Amino acid sequence: MSINKQVLVTGGAGFIGSHLIDRLIADGTDVLCVDNFYTGTKPNIYHLKNNVHFELIRHDVTFPLYVEVDAIFNLACPASPVHYQHDPIQTTKTSVHGAINLLGLAKRLKCPILQASTSEVYGDPKVNPQREDYWGNVNPIGPRSCYDEGKRCAETLFFDYHRQTGLDVKVARIFNTYGPRMHPN
Ligand code: UDP
Repeated sequence: MSINKQVLVTGGAGFIGSHLIDRLIADGTDVLCVDNFYTGTKPNIYHLKNNVHFELIRHDVTFPLYVEVDAIFNLACPASPVHYQHDPIQTTKTSVHGAINLLGLAKRLKCPILQASTSEVYGDPKVNPQREDYWGNVNPIGPRSCYDEGKRCAETLFFDYHRQTGLDVKVARIFNTYGPRMHPN
């Protein structure tokens, strides 16, 4: 029987998710990685395939997920314009339905949940640099809105679940990030 904490990482086969998993496992955590491999790749997690602290489920977060974990990191969403504009309806569903399903999971488990949000919630900002209390300059109907507004709605759901159910939530607005395992394009 495992005595390690079990952490769910959605989008775990992605660029940031795979690095997060490496860190969690190095810190003595057991990780359940969920990815639909739309933009995440098996090479990003290949080095973990024989690690007893690592488990993988191919699953799309727009569908409910019933697992038992102690904490959730929700990183599932295509993040580059070329990918998220390929199927913009699915992009919004990934952020919004994904948030609803994972918040429902966190509510059932009474476990903390972190949302990987984005600096894109500020839209085309009129304030530089952006502070967290700046509400942004956003467009709900443009070709990038599926990503930006999906992420904004996910933030709304996270804070409403916190206010309405007392769920322990964190929202991290990640700015442009690069490094090993990032798709070269
Ligand atoms: N959900 C899930 N896994 C769980 C619990 C809930 O995927 O372990 C999904 C559930 O199918 C629903 C969503 O999360 O689609 C919201 O669940 P919640 O319990 O918050 O729904 P509510 O009762 O608040 O409408």
